[in-house]
Amino acid sequence: MHPYDHPTFRMASRQFDLVADFLEMPEGDRDRVRLPKRSISVAVPVHLDDGRTQVFHGFRVQHHLTLGPTKGGIRYHPDVTLGEVAALSMWMSWKCALMGLPYGGAKGGVACDPSKLSVAELERLTRRFTQEIIPFIGPQTDVPAPDMGTNEQTMAWMMDTYSTHVGHSVPGVVTGKPVLLGGSVGRREATGRGVAFLVNRAMDTLGMEAREATAIIQGYGNVGSVTAQGLERFGTRMIGIGDAGGAVFNERGLDLAALDAHVAAHRTVAGFPGGAPISNADLLVQRCDILVPAALERQITGENAGKIQCRVLAEAANGPTTPDADEILARRPEIIVLPDILCNAGGVVVSYFEWVQDLQSFFWGETEVIDRLYRMLEQAFSQTLKFSRERRVTMRTAALASGIERVWKAKRLRGLFP
Ligand code: NAD
Repeated sequence: MHPYDHPTFRMASRQFDLVADFLEMPEGDRDRVRLPKRSISVAVPVHLDDGRTQVFHGFRVQHHLTLGPTKGGIRYHPDVTLGEVAALSMWMSWKCALMGLPYGGAKGGVACDPSKLSVAELERLTRRFTQEIIPFIGPQTDVPAPDMGTNEQTMAWMMDTYSTHVGHSVPGVVTGKPVLLGGSVGRREATGRGVAFLVNRAMDTLGMEAREATAIIQGYGNVGSVTAQGLERFGTRMIGIGDAGGAVFNERGLDLAALDAHVAAHRTVAGFPGGAPISNADLLVQRCDILVPAALERQITGENAGKIQCRVLAEAANGPTTPDADEILARRPEIIVLPDILCNAGGVVVSYFEWVQDLQSFFWGETEVIDRLYRMLEQAFSQTLKFSRERRVTMRTAALASGIERVWKAKRLRGLFP
């Protein structure tokens, strides 16, 4: 069996094949561009607080080494598998190439439920996982960052474990660290801030008014919550928000400050008195102007793509829309899709800024970070929209084709090694 066999890897492969056909990529080049260069699978034994020892499975996949070090998040979630991580590493490659960053894609993860582990257990798990992958990471080799279930503290533990091993501080080994340890101002907010910026660019092109618009968000973690704040700042009303615990809906608008206080107390939006309960499945198909999946892969599928009722589908999560759903959305021109590798690229762009600042030990202010972020997103958005209009393809095909073609051309220029 294929080592990466998993529904999400099959989905990423199918997207790749469709774009490879569009680019007329010869059969002989396809597996070289598609398949991850390296994958590492490790056993992570951890002493639990109750005295037992549990072995967790951890993975790191480096998709290609052609353009520089590899870059991508570390996910803590019960469903993490080698195949899922491999698919996410592939998408990171296309995203970095679309944004013109000097990186290949990577992704990592540990199959665990972080909500069921204590802080001390999470620290032991993170330090042991880092220890196991030390030979494969480094500022010039592979630079992890946060993803679902991990955060600034996780990156601080990773940076410390690596630095202790080499004998001096190496802030550039991870991004998304606390600012005090060499993190960049604006990194924690970067993905959601970028999503809100691009949603507004999409609304501009459709002639929509942000102040009259409504939004629904699935996932209220780092990305979903910052996206909500960003959209609210432009005057848009949040009418539905969901997370792993449930979802709430209020057509007149959810009070975000009150919702945040509820989440701080209960660790979920479920039960928030300022809205009515609704299932996550129903949430996605309510009428709204902006729909933002900001949680897991494969949420918009062949089943519900015909039923969603938005004007802008902003893919803050990685891989939220399946190729079956894409076929249906391609026949619904009233919906503009901001594809994941563009929509959530703000995170890796500011991770790149953080890495550059760490390598130079010279740090930028917030205005400089945000200004440079918006300029890079604006350029990628305009270029993707132009490609899509000129070549009469979807925004996803346009974004993927730009990214995949760059990696393919770079591999041809360098030869077989990377
Ligand atoms: P997070 O762990 O901070 O938040 C994840 C949110 O999703 C939580 O609210 C969780 O409750 C919710 N969720 C989990 N399972 C769910 C389910 N079955 N139904 C509904 N909601 C569910 O993670 P994050 O960093 O915000 O990442 C969210 C998505 O954005 C992921 O797809 C990630 O790959 C992507 N992403 C993150 C970044 C980043 O900088 N953190 C960058 C690019 C893309």
